[in-house]
Amino acid sequence: MNPADHDAPASTMPTHGDLTQRYGASLMGVFGAPGLVLERGEGAVVRDVEGREYLDLLAGIAVNVLGHAHPALVAAVSEQAAKLIHVSNFFTTRPQIELAERLVAASGGDADTRVFFCNSGAEANEAAFKLARRTARPGVVVADGGFHGRTLGALSLTSKQAYREPFEPLVPGVTRVPYHDVEALRAAVDDTVGAVILEPIQGEAGVIEASPEYLRAAREVTRERGALLIIDEVQTGVARTGEWFGFQTIAPEVMPDAITLAKGLGGGVPIGALVTFGAASTMFEAGQHGSTFGGNPLACAAGVAVMRTIEDERLREQARRLGEHLVAAVENLDDERVVTVRGRGLLRGIVLRDPLAQRVVVRAREAGFIINATGPDVIRLAPPLVITGEQIDTFVAALPGLLDAAETEENAS
Ligand SMILES: *Cc1c(COP(=O)(O)O)cnc(C)c1O
Repeated sequence: MNPADHDAPASTMPTHGDLTQRYGASLMGVFGAPGLVLERGEGAVVRDVEGREYLDLLAGIAVNVLGHAHPALVAAVSEQAAKLIHVSNFFTTRPQIELAERLVAASGGDADTRVFFCNSGAEANEAAFKLARRTARPGVVVADGGFHGRTLGALSLTSKQAYREPFEPLVPGVTRVPYHDVEALRAAVDDTVGAVILEPIQGEAGVIEASPEYLRAAREVTRERGALLIIDEVQTGVARTGEWFGFQTIAPEVMPDAITLAKGLGGGVPIGALVTFGAASTMFEAGQHGSTFGGNPLACAAGVAVMRTIEDERLREQARRLGEHLVAAVENLDDERVVTVRGRGLLRGIVLRDPLAQRVVVRAREAGFIINATGPDVIRLAPPLVITGEQIDTFVAALPGLLDAAETEENAS
């Protein structure tokens, strides 16, 4: 950090209030009022424009896997920006090929594994949806609670009624089944269904895991009926759960036909990907899908730096170890207001007895912790994989006090 930035006279520093006012007057109101105006960060710590520090236990929603300002990512992006940022898909670049090769290797697929690059999770799922249509079967089966993005196609796959309803009619052909219900899946996948699209852990729904049996059954049913099994790894991918991809953490023997990626892949630089296996790799013919920005060398160089650093710093192991550390620390609190901790690796949902999650989020922010509520009673943690056990401990130690404050506020209201 540059100390000079913090020595500026207070009167010349923009305040949180000024900036949120300008935000409200210039940004579309789809996200509500921003909680903080952030300026810089280092590792798992971010600093706001007024100089206050926060421990970032959310990582931009499972995005900043290397934390903030990781030297390897800063160098990769800076060096690539000084060479080429974009070239179009008439051409390729070394970072694009290297990132595709790394994804092929990480996925454990064979020589028929292929990668399509895009720019976000929704776009990766759009590509997956179009891939499903290439089976010549119009149906897609998805799960209740599933979140797949906000573009019209991805939204059609998404469960939440409040997101979908204002935009109907959506893309037809999507059937929803209860998550984790093998019989419902078996009944829904007939010969009109081209694909089943599932998250291995439903992040937005409150960090709800599939069991190995469920993923195995999904593979079995889709194989029997000739449908694709597509796993949405947008939130669970890129070492978040302790393996490269979430399905490998839960049921490594289940090889899907495709996975979709985004969030963590660029460490914060926008990038998405569809990775296909076997016959699914040749279902798009030349010209049937595309993206101007997809696979640009800047985003791919970021992706290469992320994947290389995950290996160099053994961050898959770290995600596993710190995930268990977090669970043990929360259990050690022995606080009856905490029901359980769900999830794998460093994608965790702390389930509360009472619907206080939103109040806890606000209290946590005041106390210097960035966390998130996925529902009334679930706190989601998805910290940078470079976070330390000591940093996690500071949050866990603060949790009972945050719950006290949230309860007091609840009782006063
Ligand atoms: C975030 C998310 C998406 C959407 O990604 P965007 O980059 O916001 O479009 C899709 N699927 C899952 C599982 C996600 O968590």
